[in-house]
Amino acid sequence: MGGACMTNTVAIIGANAAGLTTAMELRRLGYDGRVMLFDAEMEPLYNRPAVSKEMLSGEFSDPSDTPLVRADILEKMHLELEFGNRVLGIGTAGRLDLSGGRQVGAEVMVVATGGLARWPAQVPRLQGIHTLRTSRDAMALREALLPGARVVVMGGGVIGCEVASSAVRRGCDTTIVDIAALPMLRSIGEGAGRVMATVIEEAGVKLRLGEGIASVLGPSRISGVVLMSGETLPCDVLVIGVGMVPNAKLANDAGAENDNGILIDAHCRTSLPGVLAVGDVTRRRSTVEGLGDRSETILNAQIQAREAASTILGLELPKAQPSGFWSDQFDINIQAVGKVDRTVSHWLKPFNGQEGVLLQFSENKLCGAVGFNSGRAIARIRRLLSVGDRRPPEELLRDPKLNG
Ligand SMILES: Cc1cc2nc3c(=O)[nH]c(=O)nc-3n(C[C@H](O)[C@H](O)[C@H](O)COP(=O)(O)OP(=O)(O)OC[C@H]3O[C@@H](n4cnc5c(N)ncnc54)[C@H](O)[C@@H]3O)c2cc1C
Repeated sequence: MGGACMTNTVAIIGANAAGLTTAMELRRLGYDGRVMLFDAEMEPLYNRPAVSKEMLSGEFSDPSDTPLVRADILEKMHLELEFGNRVLGIGTAGRLDLSGGRQVGAEVMVVATGGLARWPAQVPRLQGIHTLRTSRDAMALREALLPGARVVVMGGGVIGCEVASSAVRRGCDTTIVDIAALPMLRSIGEGAGRVMATVIEEAGVKLRLGEGIASVLGPSRISGVVLMSGETLPCDVLVIGVGMVPNAKLANDAGAENDNGILIDAHCRTSLPGVLAVGDVTRRRSTVEGLGDRSETILNAQIQAREAASTILGLELPKAQPSGFWSDQFDINIQAVGKVDRTVSHWLKPFNGQEGVLLQFSENKLCGAVGFNSGRAIARIRRLLSVGDRRPPEELLRDPKLNG
């Protein structure tokens, strides 16, 4: 990889945001060789963010309501898609082992196997306990979110709060338990976290912050959780929302370097020759500041997919762009861009119960923002971040173009 493209066959393992975008980007850049895509799920080409939003609320009844790409566009891509086919092993000589003893060969492999919902050690596998990663998980949980059900959500991160939003809307008696002092602290920072704590409580969800779940009561079906303070919360449904673990077994077994994610360089190359990795399964190596963080967002999956396609074709990497994510919960569209954690924040537009924009600064320089129902403002801030705007907070906050 590097220089003119000599690759005839690319095999991509995992056909969701990162894998499919890699394939489509290869075609967009003019690659006309074979592109094979394998996915373990029977119906992989759906928007995963809908799992904790529209699929859980019931707005979408199944994954076909939210396709990743339109069928007519997909058809024109001439991709070789195999669903319900788990890749069992990869060899560095370009060999993929499939179920039924079948093998296929490819000059370049892209591992896009995503993540698995994290299951904490203190939680036994009882009936009534759910995690949320796939459309099937959403449908199973939706059936359990009956009016009056006592639902405890373990973890007040983005997905935990989205679950609570759907649960309370479906008439469940809903409690979020999180060890952190504010909801979604890691993703939206302190100022925005305080706003969301108020929004969540006003919607009728009980927040138990600075508190953890020590153990779970059974015997075969969950009947309650015991908090670290010793208090027992009776519950019918426990939803575990404590993040994901990279689904890195395939790459690990093949000998790829891994440190809480398959390690990739700026070109999405793993330590194995001819094997790239993209999306939630990866963690970026960084020569300047040590290891980079893992990023589990659609935007990150898409950015890395574009980088991987350029690498395969021997092209220059696309221009770097700020990270970001969105979430829909409690009738609020939250959008975050850039760095928001451990920064100094100033309201560009104070939250008025509906809208608001919080700017984040690091060393007196704009480094990120969180918007509530403020997509246009966030798009403008994204542009400023892309060009590295260096104005101090006072000046930026007075900018009429930003304020308008
Ligand atoms: C419930 C939920 C809500 C989310 N909401 C948002 C949101 O609002 N905004 C946002 O930016 N991000 C959101 N995310 C994160 C976002 O969905 C992920 O960052 C994104 O899906 C990552 O894409 P990926 O392709 O790397 O991994 P995945 O989407 O996990 O896809 C990996 C695919 O690989 C397949 N696979 C795994 N192992 C094998 C194998 N051995 N053989 C074949 N196939 C295999 C899996 O079946 C899967 O389809 C959400 C995530 C979840 C779980």
